[in-house]
Amino acid sequence: MDRRPIISPATPLIDRYGRQITYLRLSVTDRCDMRCVYCMKARPEFLPKADLLSLEELTMLCDAFIARGVTKIRLTGGEPLVRKDVLTLIESLGARIGPAGLKELCLTTNATQLPRFAERMAAAGIRRLNISLDTLEADVYRQLTRGGGIDKALAGIAAAKAAGLQVKINAVAMAGVNETHLPDLIGWAHGEGHDVSLIEVMPVGEIGADRSTQFLSLKDVRSSLSDRWTLTDLPDNTGGPARYVKVEETGGRLGFISPLTGNFCDSCNRVRVTCTGQLYACLGKNGRIDLRHALRAGGPEALDRALDEAVAEKPWGHDFDVSPGAAAAVDRDMARTGG
Ligand code: SAM
Ligand code: SF4
Repeated sequence: MDRRPIISPATPLIDRYGRQITYLRLSVTDRCDMRCVYCMKARPEFLPKADLLSLEELTMLCDAFIARGVTKIRLTGGEPLVRKDVLTLIESLGARIGPAGLKELCLTTNATQLPRFAERMAAAGIRRLNISLDTLEADVYRQLTRGGGIDKALAGIAAAKAAGLQVKINAVAMAGVNETHLPDLIGWAHGEGHDVSLIEVMPVGEIGADRSTQFLSLKDVRSSLSDRWTLTDLPDNTGGPARYVKVEETGGRLGFISPLTGNFCDSCNRVRVTCTGQLYACLGKNGRIDLRHALRAGGPEALDRALDEAVAEKPWGHDFDVSPGAAAAVDRDMARTGG
C-alpha cells in the first residue's frame, strides 16, 4: 500500500525568519566502524537498536518532508552504510526522485563500505557523495580515525568514481594534526576530479578533548594556501554553507565551511533528524521535536503538525564557542545528530 501523505505542496516549511526548509539530513544510525577523534569518544555508548526507526518509518518521515517541499535528502550517520539493509532505504527513496518530488538524494560516508555498495547506489539514483578523508598519510589517518585503514577508504573512493558517482572530499581541519597535509590532499583530490571542502571543527558533543586544542581557523588555512596557490572566488551558491574558490593551478574547486569564523546561519535551509526520529532544527542547539512519537501515536497528520511546530521553533542559529575550557554547545555528538 502506498502510504504517502496527501498534503498540498502549497504548504512549504518556512520559519519565522523567512528561511524555507528544503533540505533534510537524515541520520540512519549513530553507529560507525570508525571513532574519529573530533566526532566521538573512544568508547561511545550507542543507542539501543530497539529505539531506532524502522526503514519503513524512515521512508514515511521522508515522504512527510517531501510533501512539504523538501527537495534534497542526505543520508548520514554515524556511518550510514553500516545500517543493516540500508540499500532498501536508498532504493525506496531513489524512487521518490522526480519532477514533483525529490530533486536529489545524496549520502555522506567514510567510504569503507563503498566497494560493496557504490554501483547499486548509483543505480538507485544517487549521483553525488560526500566522503570524509582528512589526510593521505596512513599513520595520521589511523590516529584521527582511531584505527581506520586508509587503503580501505581509498578503495571506496575509487569504487565510487568507477560507478560514475561525483565525489566531494570533506576534510576537518585539525590544529597540529593535518594542517600541513591539506595541500597534498587537495592536490590529489583535484587530480582525481573530486571537489574538496575543508570544515572547521565544531564543539558538538563531549568527546573527551578540549575543542580549543583541535580548532584550526579556516581563515588561517586559506591564507596559507594563498601563499602556494591562486585562489579565485567562485560565485557558486549551492544553497549550502561552503564558500567556494577555484584553485587555478589544479583547476579544482575548494570549499570552506567555516561555522566559527564565517557564520552562515542566515541562509540555513536544513533540518536534521536522528535515527530515533528526533528532529533538530539547529545543529548547535538542544531544542528537538519527537517525530517518532508523532508518527507512532498520531500517524501522518500528527507528523505533519510536528513539522510545523519544529519549523516555527527553529532558532536563528548557533553560538559555537571553541575558546579554552568552553563547554560543548550541545551534548550529542555529530554521529548522533547526523553530520
Ligand atoms: N560517517 C560519515 C562520514 O564520516 O562521512 C557520515 C557522518 S559524519 C558525522 C559527517 C561529517 O561530519 C564528516 O565529514 C565528519 O568529518 C564531520 N564531523 C564530525 N564531527 C565533527 C565536528 N565536531 N566538527 C566538524 N565536523 C565534524
Ligand atoms: Fe564515524 Fe563519520 Fe564520525 Fe568518523 S566522522 S567517527 S567516520 S561518523
